[in-house]
Amino acid sequence: MLVLKFGGTSVGSAARMKEVAKLINTPERKIVVLSAMTGTTNSLVEIAAYLYKKNIEAAIEKIKLLEKNYQLVVEELFETKTFREKGLELISSHFNYIKAFTQDMFTLFEEKAILAQGEMLSTALFYFYLEENHIQSTLIPALNFMRIDEDGEPNTSFIKEQLQHELALHNASNLFITQGFICRNTFGEIDNLKRGGSDYSASLIGAAVEATEIQIWTDIDGFHNNDPRIVENTKPLAGLSFDEAAELAYFGAKILHPSSVLPAKLANIPVRLKNTMNPGATGTIICNETKNKGIKAIAAKDNITAIKIKSGRMLLAHGFLRKVFEIFETYKTSIDMITTSEVAVSVTIDDTKFLNEIILDLKKFGTVEVDTALSIICIVGDFIAESKGYALKIFSALENIPIRMISYGGSFHNVSVLVTTSDKKEALETLHKTLFEHD
Ligand code: ASP
Repeated sequence: MLVLKFGGTSVGSAARMKEVAKLINTPERKIVVLSAMTGTTNSLVEIAAYLYKKNIEAAIEKIKLLEKNYQLVVEELFETKTFREKGLELISSHFNYIKAFTQDMFTLFEEKAILAQGEMLSTALFYFYLEENHIQSTLIPALNFMRIDEDGEPNTSFIKEQLQHELALHNASNLFITQGFICRNTFGEIDNLKRGGSDYSASLIGAAVEATEIQIWTDIDGFHNNDPRIVENTKPLAGLSFDEAAELAYFGAKILHPSSVLPAKLANIPVRLKNTMNPGATGTIICNETKNKGIKAIAAKDNITAIKIKSGRMLLAHGFLRKVFEIFETYKTSIDMITTSEVAVSVTIDDTKFLNEIILDLKKFGTVEVDTALSIICIVGDFIAESKGYALKIFSALENIPIRMISYGGSFHNVSVLVTTSDKKEALETLHKTLFEHD
């Protein structure tokens, strides 16, 4: 079984949906996981924001606009009157459902129900399109098998059991369509795997059915060796290990959701990143074994805040770090980078929701300094084989860039440096030149 996930831009218009239909019309048995059409989830988030603020008029206007877009998609997607009517009926039923939320109390529960409509619409339209074109498929609702537990973590045994059950109901079917992103929580309410979560759905589904391969289809030829939006002459990478892909995804490469690496890694299922605009390209294969060693890629993550805690009490003391980390734990704020000296510890965070509370608590232990508008530059590769010399290469490339923090030795796959965001572009470019264009 193959699992193929198509992101929002890949199903972003009637024309793109038709392309996807061509790509999946192959003999292998497969589950196709779809995102909402591009822009839809953002629009639904906006609608929910208006409803929270009780701005019903603005919400209705936005709902009507979105509904109109879908009506146009239907006109373009279907050839026959029967399917156009079917499509329009589907759209009005989903939009009537959304409109019903303008009349009542609006809570997180209603918001999640609204956010789920994007994936429901894209999958149902796609399913109808296949039907109109005589491509037999089965639509399996993700809400029947995708579930998170009370901590918001996927309930993998439930997912496996229920998904197997759904598939068994349609033993003769070769092609299954389902929604990414959406799920139910432990109370059975509609929930989701957080923004960009369709990749995570695909990985969980792949692990649950022990797929031979999970393919993530986007509109770029796989992971690039640097950020193509900032640096010229970046190249797609043929292969990465799961650990390298996880570092890159976490530290800024937008192509893959960071959570989606773990389920595939644990189940040892290769993940292939493919380009819908260029399906012939091999893309990037992510698996447990990689042939290429050395430095492979560079990524950057913005909006980083650094916090330095300086304390005489840290000198020769034990238990100091535990106390500091407990404060971050209390506020459920995760730390990305850490460096320590004998009298100070610096950490970085990207979620500043509780920054003021954290600073207040940290002040009990010493003086606290906060720096904002920083970026983590992350250099990823397999450094075991090249353990001598790569640090020199990295730091000589950065000789003219002020470095705020360095994290080195935490894993064999990552060297991270913290710079001010205004220096990021130059840092990425000079690293690229030195590391990848030297010969
Ligand atoms: N539609 C969802 C979002 O925009 C999930 C996804 O596309 O992966 O976040």
